[in-house]
Amino acid sequence: MIIAIDGPAGAGKSTVAKALANRLGFHYLDSGAMYRGVALRSLKAAQRNAAELASELRIELVGPLVLIDGRDVTAEIRAPEVSERASQIAADPAVRAALVPLQRQLVASGDWVAEGRDIGTVVAPHAELKVFLTASAQARAHRRGDESPASIAARDERDTTRADSPLREAPDAQVIDTTDLTIDEVVVRIAALAASLETAR
Ligand code: C5P
Repeated sequence: MIIAIDGPAGAGKSTVAKALANRLGFHYLDSGAMYRGVALRSLKAAQRNAAELASELRIELVGPLVLIDGRDVTAEIRAPEVSERASQIAADPAVRAALVPLQRQLVASGDWVAEGRDIGTVVAPHAELKVFLTASAQARAHRRGDESPASIAARDERDTTRADSPLREAPDAQVIDTTDLTIDEVVVRIAALAASLETAR
């Protein structure tokens, strides 16, 4: 089974997706880590083309750890300048064309909780369960304490208005507003949706 979780920055996707994967014993795919990995390399090699860097990306997602070329970059890819650069290079169709096949390959077998912006619409439109998480701008800024509200707004604007794979809820996605919910409440809700699908199968 694939559970696709999409939504804007700060809606709780990563925390919820990790906890849900843990609870269900599913694999966890943080697709944003791939865009962040390309962004990190692009910041370090500004003269290089981002699509080329994406096609060369040697990324391993080992549980919660992100390794690039065998090196642990888990903390480094969360830096504000990497977030900003990631949302810029993510608008490049050639970058997406390099990363989406890697994501599709990963979720092709086994059970996955995959999170990002385009999982339910592009990466895995066949996912059995699609969830779109939202939250008020205030709650999202509060959760992303290390990222300014202006930066979050700029990323959201870029993510929703880009021509290729914009952030959109899939028509068959379940929308959950997490503003007034705890992580656990969101996880329990999604787990219940998954369980009802399992029994219907
Ligand atoms: O999810 P996270 O904030 O780590 O993603 C960083 C950036 O990567 C996002 O702002 C977005 O521009 C991009 N991204 C994307 N598609 C995905 C995951 C992330 O465009 N599936």
